[in-house]
Amino acid sequence: MEYKNAIDFDNIQESLERELGLGFEGWIPKIEIGLLELKLELQNCEITPPIIVQMKERFGDLRIYTDSQEPAAVSEALEDICRHVNSSCQRCGNAAEVQVVFGWAIRLCCHCYNKFLDERFDGAESRWPDSLSPFDVANKFPDLVRPDCASLLPSVGQGWLVALGQYLKEMDYAVQRAELPPGTVQICDIKTKNRKISLSYHQYHEVAELSELRLEYATSQICTRCGHRGSRRRDKNYADCLCDYCSTKGWDPFAHN
Ligand SMILES: [Zn+2]
Ligand SMILES: [Zn+2]
Repeated sequence: MEYKNAIDFDNIQESLERELGLGFEGWIPKIEIGLLELKLELQNCEITPPIIVQMKERFGDLRIYTDSQEPAAVSEALEDICRHVNSSCQRCGNAAEVQVVFGWAIRLCCHCYNKFLDERFDGAESRWPDSLSPFDVANKFPDLVRPDCASLLPSVGQGWLVALGQYLKEMDYAVQRAELPPGTVQICDIKTKNRKISLSYHQYHEVAELSELRLEYATSQICTRCGHRGSRRRDKNYADCLCDYCSTKGWDPFAHN
């Protein structure tokens, strides 16, 4: 099989733009610097640069593929480039975690994430994550509420509903796995407290503890309005739960309730 050389080391920036396509303006300068450093180092040792056959984003991370076994120093240099890039927004280069929208992973800061949502859902009838609301726990997880509970709507922003669904599913499963009867854990209220989600119970069992801790931790990092993870703003009174972007918009995170 013949491999193409995806990166021309004499024209790195153009190669990167061609290989990665649009939407990677935050990564390209970092990769360019890393590859140029590598090229100069190898030149000093009279070694030709590696043949990079593919460079792409996968699950929010940069991957670099070469055509053969590279010297350890070269593989390490390429891994370093990936590590460096894989903590930053692909569009602007700010620090960023991987965001998941409808199961699609993409590494964006809160500003680029909200721009991405605008582009993606422009003109759509329902927008992410607004479309997740209303979220009725009694309907989705009937075994985690009192048998006579007809409806349990969480008093939290829609940005937390993905995490809520994920960890209640985990809790539901933990009860089943422990072979405890349905209704062993009965949640009666879900609200915001101390800048994260807070569950109250009619009936509690320690089997729920781990999922509850994970849920509290996740929501301490996630914007309660837009669902962005990893850029929660600290304001003076520590009262709200918004990301840097949403806090500049003057939104009331609980206005939809
Ligand atoms: Zn960004
Ligand atoms: Zn936000």
